[in-house]
Amino acid sequence: MVEAVQIPVERIKESKLGQVDFSNLGFGKYFSDHMLEADYVNGEWTSVKIRPYQDLGFLPALSVLHYSQTIFEGQKAHKDENGNIHIFRPHENWKRLNRSADRMAMPNVPEEIFVDGMKQLIELDKAFIPSGYDESLYIRPFLFATEETLGVKESNSYKFLIITGPVGSYFSAPARIYVEEKYTRAAPGGTGAAKTGGNYAASLLSSAEARKQGYDQVLWMDANEHKYVQEVGAMNILFVIDGKIITPDLTDGTILSGITRMSLIELFKEKGYTVDERKVSIDEIVEAYKNGSLQEVFGCGTAATISHVRELKYKDFVMEFDVDSMTISADMKKYLLDYKENLHGDPHGWLEKV
Ligand code: PMP
Repeated sequence: MVEAVQIPVERIKESKLGQVDFSNLGFGKYFSDHMLEADYVNGEWTSVKIRPYQDLGFLPALSVLHYSQTIFEGQKAHKDENGNIHIFRPHENWKRLNRSADRMAMPNVPEEIFVDGMKQLIELDKAFIPSGYDESLYIRPFLFATEETLGVKESNSYKFLIITGPVGSYFSAPARIYVEEKYTRAAPGGTGAAKTGGNYAASLLSSAEARKQGYDQVLWMDANEHKYVQEVGAMNILFVIDGKIITPDLTDGTILSGITRMSLIELFKEKGYTVDERKVSIDEIVEAYKNGSLQEVFGCGTAATISHVRELKYKDFVMEFDVDSMTISADMKKYLLDYKENLHGDPHGWLEKV
């Protein structure tokens, strides 16, 4: 661990805290008073500072606007019953951001800026952290290309920012999902495992079409054979078949390595479940549904922790599930939510105190 450095702070003149309706937080609606900012110029990180959340001002030729060289993270900090603040596994997000950076030909962000800077920023804006169960401060670190050029090449300058904002408990109604057959999200050798804006931009048409048909999300399939499942929306997918936890493996680089997924796998194993990370074909899922061995289907991610699937449609075949009977994932969801609220005493060392 690198020695924490104190980052210079320009404080906001008048806090926006009074504008926050803490009884109706929603997601991504409110932003805290300050942001962390750092620039990468001439091969070095400079101008690291915390200042009021504000308009950045940019020129039309800013390269990220044209060629999408941009990556981000999504994570949360919770306030526990005693008012202590913890960020959930921030070093995992830091490592994932730098893996995304490597794939997108971008510089790595140092730990002192990402982790220590994040803690300093959160300490400054801690009044924005709601204290209700499952309420949290959402943290959005992101890095983007800032060179003023239309040349198609990696940028020679970048900006890193962290913005935060209070978010409510994420109630996700059990989801209706269909298996996407027209569009694909990621192919081997592509950018599926990177958390880069283009992956999300390319998914928007598919989710808009799903919504028009009354579905919440799509389940992405592999781009080569349309045979193996990958992930769903901004979530990894898990199945319980015959009491075993089954989830697609990450080896071909098409799936984002979710920190919730990683945590759940550890917790399930600890509770004695067998966890199979391997290729999962849609035919296997249909077969397990037909023979009654498919017990639970759920997505997992930072936003919802676990989101149950009540309907999964593949071609004309509709699989319906009794979400109330999905007790394995429901119990685990409660355990992980309680964990983040520091109700278990942090046996895995996943909570970093601010
Ligand atoms: N897959 C995708 C495509 C995502 O955007 C996310 C959300 N970051 C996830 C999976 C889940 O990752 P995590 O558990 O780290 O939030």
